[in-house]
Amino acid sequence: MNKKPIISCRDLSVHFPIGGGLFERKQFVRAVNNVNLSIPQGSFFGLVGESGSGKTTLGRAFLRAVPITHGEINYSDGEKDYDLVDLPKKQLKEFRKRAQLIFQDPYAALSPRMTIRDIIAEPLEVMNLTSSREETDELVREMAHKCRLNLEHLRRFPHAFSGGQRQRISIARSLVSNPRFVVADESVAALDVSIQADVLNLLKSLQSELGSTYLFISHDLSVVAHICDMVAVMYLGQLIEVAPTRELFSAPRHPYTQALLSSIPNLDPDHQSDAQKLKGEIPSPTNPPSGCKFHTRCHYVVEHCKVVEPLLEHPESSHDVACHRWEELMNIKEIPVANLA
Ligand code: SF4
Repeated sequence: MNKKPIISCRDLSVHFPIGGGLFERKQFVRAVNNVNLSIPQGSFFGLVGESGSGKTTLGRAFLRAVPITHGEINYSDGEKDYDLVDLPKKQLKEFRKRAQLIFQDPYAALSPRMTIRDIIAEPLEVMNLTSSREETDELVREMAHKCRLNLEHLRRFPHAFSGGQRQRISIARSLVSNPRFVVADESVAALDVSIQADVLNLLKSLQSELGSTYLFISHDLSVVAHICDMVAVMYLGQLIEVAPTRELFSAPRHPYTQALLSSIPNLDPDHQSDAQKLKGEIPSPTNPPSGCKFHTRCHYVVEHCKVVEPLLEHPESSHDVACHRWEELMNIKEIPVANLA
């Protein structure tokens, strides 16, 4: 995919201070550490990793919803360009009209005291995007229709709706201002499996209809395989592999990605692969290991890995990996292939 990036970051770090009492040494949780990433315009870009890998913090850094410790974030949608790290308050408000977040939990995201009409209209009113109540109502009705909500639903309160309907209301509220960049953080994780496909298909069809770009954060690889064009894999605050979805799922290069993919359950008895067990737990982000951050759990670690950190060398290339030995490993062992059928 050679499209221009809508958002890109260079050497991006987000560290949160913890401790630091009178006699305590101040420590930092390195939630995101020296990340370089470009998200092409119009793409449905997946970000995957275990809990605690930093994917939510990276998504929020792109929305300027967490303080940035170090690095650059640039946004450019063809109409507006922003240097997001040094953005004055007034311009940050302008940027927020172009970028939105879809929340994970549709039960917590909707105020129980507001009607569905008021919930969906809220971003338009807060950001002064319309000039009259009639115009607001028109946009609310249009977006409710796109999200398969009835006009009669607009008069009701959230408690009258199921989980899937609430998530569609939440999506309508996030998209009513026509954002160019949307961060969907585990947006189907709280829903029943039977409803997930419905909400995913809605997101995908809205993306093609409205032409926006999505950063889709998920720990569920089968969902990512179904919906995303490109995927980045995150481990302990760093990106370790970025590739087009089909390539990543059919020929993963990083041992961590291979282990993640091998753990996807497959119902087809002819395509069972042995899940590769990772050694131990993900290390603490306050005190990450030296060299390759994955070396404490990698079956293929050598001394060099413990000392020298492998980097994503070519952030512009379509399939990039941060592992010293990936070429060698691809030749010596059978790589588990995820069945996307
Ligand atoms: Fe494993 Fe070494 Fe590659 Fe890290 S650099 S993933 S430790 S082989």
